[in-house]
Amino acid sequence: MADWPVPSLGDKTPLEAANKPRMDFMASQGALGMVQVVPKEMYPGSDVSNLSIIGYDPREVYTGRSPLEAASMGVELRQDDVAFRCNVVCLRNAGADTEMEDYSAGHITTPEAAELLEALQKQVDDRGCGICEGSAIPSLVDPAGKGTGDSGVRFYPGVSYRHLMVWPGGNDAVRTTPPHDIHGKKITEFLPKGESAEFLLELMEISREIFPDHPVNRKRVEAGKPSGNSIWLWGQGKAPRMQTFREKYGLSGSVVAAVDLIRGIGVYAGLKLVTVPGATGYIDTNFRGKAEYALRELESKDFVLIHVEAPDEAGHNGSAPDKVRAIERIDEEMVAPILDRARNGGDLTVLLLPDHPTPVAIRTHSQEPVPFAFYPAPPGLSSFPGKRYTEADAKATGQFLDAGTRLIGYLLAGRNA
Ligand SMILES: [Zn+2]
Repeated sequence: MADWPVPSLGDKTPLEAANKPRMDFMASQGALGMVQVVPKEMYPGSDVSNLSIIGYDPREVYTGRSPLEAASMGVELRQDDVAFRCNVVCLRNAGADTEMEDYSAGHITTPEAAELLEALQKQVDDRGCGICEGSAIPSLVDPAGKGTGDSGVRFYPGVSYRHLMVWPGGNDAVRTTPPHDIHGKKITEFLPKGESAEFLLELMEISREIFPDHPVNRKRVEAGKPSGNSIWLWGQGKAPRMQTFREKYGLSGSVVAAVDLIRGIGVYAGLKLVTVPGATGYIDTNFRGKAEYALRELESKDFVLIHVEAPDEAGHNGSAPDKVRAIERIDEEMVAPILDRARNGGDLTVLLLPDHPTPVAIRTHSQEPVPFAFYPAPPGLSSFPGKRYTEADAKATGQFLDAGTRLIGYLLAGRNA
């Protein structure tokens, strides 16, 4: 939700332009301030910021996005497994001129991508020694210096262009680049670098040998669609080692989210994952359903995290009107029933905040602090009657939390007040 002043909104931010009386009520009657959710040295992704919001210091527990996505797909990682995000992408040109044409291969369909990955898995298994022999990667070579015959690599098909590769005994220190950051650029300088990069390059090379002529892609090209002619590996990491929410706070909880990363955090934190019909992660999501399901969880759980992707998506699309509309729908369809429970049922403290700004001007995430609002105001935070839930009003309070991990303490303190 957080943003910068937008010229087409009369130099207001979307939060200033939106009609959102319940959020403003929380700001005015509860506690309002600013919080630096993401540590300054880290990329402000939803994974890092949501860990921080539920009290886990991302500098200590965050290992990469792919292990979180693996958890959300139900793939359990062993201690020495390294998970990689495996995109099916469209590259154009060849050799040193190869460019990233489309990080999603035209949002290739799930069945098409699954067929490609199956073919790739077969090739990789068949070649076994071809990859491993003479390899500099210890896990692929037996003590006699010969290939072990099986790299152990497994591809798991996900949704559309988003898939998973698990490399047992792999190296997670290799440097990789998200393909959506290099649209239209030559890929050479963004290929995996560092120790054991050669193995990843070899896997990508195999995909480039067999994908372009695969029947799936011949049909796509005939239909004028981008060819899913390569994989792209990135976002790697080992399974994070985290205490569960119950171990940390002695409390039970649930997660209501459509996004894989947030659901993966829920798995590692031992939170129950709730699936809401019609929750899409886009502007057409079932806002009202998310609030209803969350309130139902609170009948048996102490805590619930609700994540709504729609304002972020509007930011990525550069659409200020969509962002304003998403904020208004959240206010009317989600904050209203939840606030109603807090005001009439007692025994409930609500914390409202964006996980990071996604300014429509830059269409990507930014690093700066975001406004938060608690209702009712928890012990230790001040109220500022008359303020609205906007970036400027929150800043004007002078109430500033320098770490997102401090939020949960106030939320839980409110519970005992
Ligand atoms: Zn985003």
